[in-house]
Amino acid sequence: MKHDAIIVGGGFAGLAAATYLARARRSVCIIDTGQPRNRFATASHGFLGFDGSRPQAILARARDQLSAYPGVSMIDAEAVAARSGEDGFSVSLSNGEEISARKAVLAFGLRDMLEPIPGLSERWGKTVLHCPYCHGFEFADRRLGVLYRTPMSAHQARLIAEWGPTTLYLNGAGLDPESAATLAEQGIKVEPGKVRRLVGEHEALSAIELEDGRTSPVEALYVAPQSCLSSPIAEQLGVVIDEGLMGPVIRTDADKMTNVPGLYAAGDIARAPHSVSWAVADGVTAGTSAHRALVFG
Ligand SMILES: Cc1cc2nc3c(=O)[nH]c(=O)nc-3n(C[C@H](O)[C@H](O)[C@H](O)COP(=O)(O)OP(=O)(O)OC[C@H]3O[C@@H](n4cnc5c(N)ncnc54)[C@H](O)[C@@H]3O)c2cc1C
Repeated sequence: MKHDAIIVGGGFAGLAAATYLARARRSVCIIDTGQPRNRFATASHGFLGFDGSRPQAILARARDQLSAYPGVSMIDAEAVAARSGEDGFSVSLSNGEEISARKAVLAFGLRDMLEPIPGLSERWGKTVLHCPYCHGFEFADRRLGVLYRTPMSAHQARLIAEWGPTTLYLNGAGLDPESAATLAEQGIKVEPGKVRRLVGEHEALSAIELEDGRTSPVEALYVAPQSCLSSPIAEQLGVVIDEGLMGPVIRTDADKMTNVPGLYAAGDIARAPHSVSWAVADGVTAGTSAHRALVFG
């Protein structure tokens, strides 16, 4: 059966796009592997009405509500390949199925590539954090750290200092004199040593151990990891992808349409900065744009 739209990725952006297409009484098929980017966090913050809810609980509720609409199908599988043709798109799934539709929305999210420092990945989303707006309030006035990755890390440290006393861990990298002076002026400490490991009970963080054997007390560490697209199917479809500060960003117009006619991209893969609210807003734009394209061609 040919659907009106296929959504690849049933996270925040994908489910929002599907909801608007379903409410427009269109047939929509959502393909999802159930691995939202924020699954490592016990609570999601800042999304209106759901502040503090478990990320998977928000998505489960959205899936429940969406499944009540006629014309909606959800498949728990991975989209492994995709191609475009004259009358739409065809997506091959890991379960062997082949799904086709007139329009498609890519919403498969990003994967973070964390620094291979012992103790870091197991604290991701708990005490090793990516964003102070999402996870800053909970650590207010505690000892905060920023792990250097690029020259932008100095800028990140200045922002984090809004939430509490901050140390920038250079992890052996250099710092230009101008940034060093600005940080000093703002009372931000700079630790030049290489980081050996993160220490603390279970998921809590109490200190960073440096390679010279010293320890530096810290309760939350902010990192800005490099990310990559979760799936290669955007490349397979010939989509234009720009290189952003943290990783790839699919290029779209204001309607969230890519350079491939009838193909939309929404959420973290097609924007910066990233949040649940932005992803949902993008999904709404992509879903309503795809619907209007179905109506008006
Ligand atoms: C640790 C952490 C904590 C965060 N905390 C917050 C917070 O508190 N508040 C906030 O607003 N934002 C938070 N964010 C940001 C938030 O997670 C993202 O902005 C949001 O998840 C983006 O939504 P999305 O729909 O674009 O992608 P995702 O939510 O990542 O959804 C993508 C979906 O696509 C699926 N998928 C991937 N590849 C395929 C494929 N080939 N076939 C089928 N399905 C596929 C995935 O399994 C996933 O279900 C956090 C991020 C991280 C890393």
